[in-house]
This record gives sequence, structure tokens and C-alpha cells, in this order.
Amino acid sequence: QEKDYQMMLRTRSPGGYIPPELYLTLDRLADEYGNHTIRATTRQGFQLHGVLKRNLKATIAAIVQSMGSTLGACGDLNRNVMAPAAPYRNRPEYEYAREYANNIADLLTPQTGAYYEIWLDGEKAISAEERPAVIAARQRNGNGTLSHEAEEPIYGKHYMPRKFKISVTVPGDNSVDLYSQDVSLVVLTNAKGELEGFNVFAGGGLGRTHNKEETFPRIADPIGYVDKADVYDLMKAIVATQRDYGDRTDRRHARMKYLIEDWGVDRFREKVESYFGKAIAPFKPLPEFKYLDFLGWHEQGDGKLFVGISIQNGRVKDDESLQLKTALREIVQTFNLPLLLTPSQDAILYDIVPAQKAQIQAILTRCGVKGLEDIDPLVRYSMACPALPTCGLATAESERVIPSILDRLRTLLDRVGLEHEHFVIRMTGCPNGCARPYLAELAFVGNGPDTYQIWLGAAPNQTRLAQVYLEKLHINDLETAFEPIFVYFKQSRQPGESFGDFCDRVGLASIHQYVAQYQPE
Ligand code: SF4
Repeated sequence: QEKDYQMMLRTRSPGGYIPPELYLTLDRLADEYGNHTIRATTRQGFQLHGVLKRNLKATIAAIVQSMGSTLGACGDLNRNVMAPAAPYRNRPEYEYAREYANNIADLLTPQTGAYYEIWLDGEKAISAEERPAVIAARQRNGNGTLSHEAEEPIYGKHYMPRKFKISVTVPGDNSVDLYSQDVSLVVLTNAKGELEGFNVFAGGGLGRTHNKEETFPRIADPIGYVDKADVYDLMKAIVATQRDYGDRTDRRHARMKYLIEDWGVDRFREKVESYFGKAIAPFKPLPEFKYLDFLGWHEQGDGKLFVGISIQNGRVKDDESLQLKTALREIVQTFNLPLLLTPSQDAILYDIVPAQKAQIQAILTRCGVKGLEDIDPLVRYSMACPALPTCGLATAESERVIPSILDRLRTLLDRVGLEHEHFVIRMTGCPNGCARPYLAELAFVGNGPDTYQIWLGAAPNQTRLAQVYLEKLHINDLETAFEPIFVYFKQSRQPGESFGDFCDRVGLASIHQYVAQYQPE
């Protein structure tokens, strides 16, 4: 008899869009086939954990019947396309970012019929022909859903050398961690708010392997500007460049960041131009990027409201003190509201008419969902990957221990006189970097049971990478290691300087020196 393999399922949700019927289906499937929780991912999808192999087919069919999909959420192809989760109706650039995230997701959706043959056979009501994404891709590429032996029009026979990550954002909004992506587009509009084109970044990627210096996190480089009419051709040209020149002999060297690092930006741009058929225009000036999470209540610009709800580590569940799963189900069921998942694993409910606000807030309060004023900003700005027990690559705990680590850091900050201080903290159970730790001001990267590599010094708006400060810290030594660093920060920071900027300015050697001579009071 076959073993009861447990699987993880991830939705394809460009820009984090989850229609109400899909949310209610995921809520039900988590109880019926999963582990009674739903997890918002760092790429704006939902994951179900603990689904037995024999229940996969029923689970995927239910997701597709509820306007969802899992196609392309994992594997060596374009992953979920990210976009800011702010549902503003009076800021056209946000609408363009969502629209183009959707269109690029469709453009790069594999057209193989295998997904439907394997998971949805016999269920004619959900044939591939009825799926809008497939229809759109087919129209653009002039052919229908492919048999699994046929060549994909964009991916060819062998798909990509490795996963491929794309985001679309607006000037100033780095909620998508644009520097961590293989390709990021920044929407550029004219004075009337009409779309003109996009600035293009390429070559970001965070995954690495401990003790393998040839693997490293890298932030994306500015590549140039493209008019809106040419954006799909440019995307195809970039994908084709990585498809044809990415390293297929060594998976650890297969992401596009290594191609750009090895070639340099100019050679990469020239190769992309040879597929694109014309020169890429110069990059246009942009304002400074900010970290944004859109939590709390906001007007969305058309008389309606949205509310961003903090979900610690993206885990939607019920426990004694917090019934988040119940709250979201009740609100979505009662008011038929759609959700947008944010890149920081939070959820936004939107299209709320003002008369519903009090009732929605009452449900949130009754279920123990904290308002913004009651959430420690250390928690608000933190992220952790699932790690143990659900991820096979994890060597250390992450999601399950980060609440206690944040508590201990808060106590320590209070003790050294930094009561109101907060910064971006991220934790992962291995160096793969799913919670984007190398862009955090302080990061814990698991490298053994209860031990972590410590990274410091990324920018508070995620535009500069952190550096390794300690190779191995046992979590029992957290206070001993961080007390001197926080004291140094308190004594020597410049007015208003963030922790990440401080670490970067003074340098890690200077922090080591201070720590070595530190005498606790
Ligand atoms: Fe698993 Fe590593 Fe990703 Fe965490 S960072 S979820 S441990 S692969």
C-alpha cells in the first residue's frame, strides 16, 4: 500500500487577488483535506499544508471551480506575479500595476493541457477552454491549449532553467520587494495619469546555500525603459534570454541573477535587445522607494473602504486568543468581499461600503484580531517562512519560534532604553530565503537546530542587501549577542537613523570591535 504522502498546494494569485468564493473554498478545504490553517505566502498566494496525495485531485478541482488555480505557482517557470495590494480606485498607477501583473501572468502561463488532463479529467465544466488566463494567452500567441508533447510558445521544450519571479509596482512603492525579483516593472504615467511605459529592473534573487560562496543574494539592476506597446515583447525577450543562456548544468547557478552577474548588465541588455529587435531606452528617474504594508482602515478613492489586517507570518488559523480564520470566513461570507494578499503576508479586505465598517470591525474585535495600535511594530514588520515541520529543506525553526524571538528582542530593546524602536526583522529555516531575509535590517537564517546565521545592515526600504554578521548564533545567546549592538546603536546613531542604516554606516567590523570591548552595566 502506498504511503500517505502529505503535499503542499499553492495558489496562482497575480497581485494577491483572492475572490470571495475562492477564499471560502480554501477555508473549507483547509478543514476537509488540510491542517485546518491557510497560509498567506510572501508572493501573495495562499498555501494549504498537509493535503494527502489521494486528496490532491479533489482539492485542485475545488480551487479551479472557485475561480482559482495552482498552475505555475511552483516549478521552473514564471511564479506568481506580484503587485502592490493597495486597491486604490483613484490612483491609476495602482490599477495599471494590477492589470499588467495579471496580463504578464497570463502571457507566461504554460499552455500545456497536461495540468487539466492530470488534475481535472472528466470534469468538463472546468475545461481549459473556459479559463480566462488560457484564452488570453492563446489569443496572444495564436494557438490553443497544447498537448503535453508539444513545445510551449515561450518556454520551448524544457521550460526555464530555474524558477522566475516578476513584480510590477508603482514609483515609490516597494511593498513588492522589487529588488529581489528576476524582473520588476515600474509603471510610469504622464501628468494626466495615463500609462506611458515602464522602467525595467532585472537580476534580483535571494536564494543561496550555506558555505557555497558561488551562491549569493543579489539585488536587481536598472535595465532601461520600455513603452507600454512593447512591454510584452520585452518580457518575452528577457525570458528567452534566460531560457537560452541560463545555466542548465548546475541548479545552484541557474537563476538569471547569475547570468547577469557573470555577463554584466551591458552584455545582458545587448542579448535581450537581440531578441527584442530594438534598443532598450534609458531608465527614467524615479523617486525614493518606501516600504508600505497598507494595514488598518483606508479610503480606496471611490467612496468605499479597505482594511489591511496583520496576519503574523501569514498563518490564518483559530486558537484560544485569536480566531482569525473564523473572522475572515464570517466577513467574506456575510459581505461577499474580495481579498488582496500583500507581499508581507497580510490580507486586505476591500470594496467595503462605509455602512459595513462598524459591523466588520465588531467581528474583528470579537475574534481577537488586533487593531494597528495594539500590534508591536516589530511584529508588524517581521516575516518568517514556514520551515519546520512542513518544509523539507528547513534545518531550523522559523514560523514557530519568531513570536518568542520578537518578544525577547522587544524586552531587550526596552531594557537598553530603545522602547519605541522598531525595524524590519525576517527569519528563515534555511538559506533559500523564502521570507526574503537578505533584505531585512536584521535577519536570522537557519543553519542547524536552534542556530542561525545573523545578517545586518539592509536598508529599511529594502533597496540594499544585508551582510553576514555572525556565521552561527545559538538562539539561547540572543540577548548576549544583541545587547551590545543595541547599546552601540543607541549611543552612536544619527538623528532618526534606522537600525539597518546604522549598521551599514558604521560597518560590521566596527560593530564587532564594539561588542568585543563591551562591559555590561
Ligand atoms: Fe523552507 Fe528554506 Fe523556504 Fe524556509 S526558506 S520555507 S526553510 S525552503
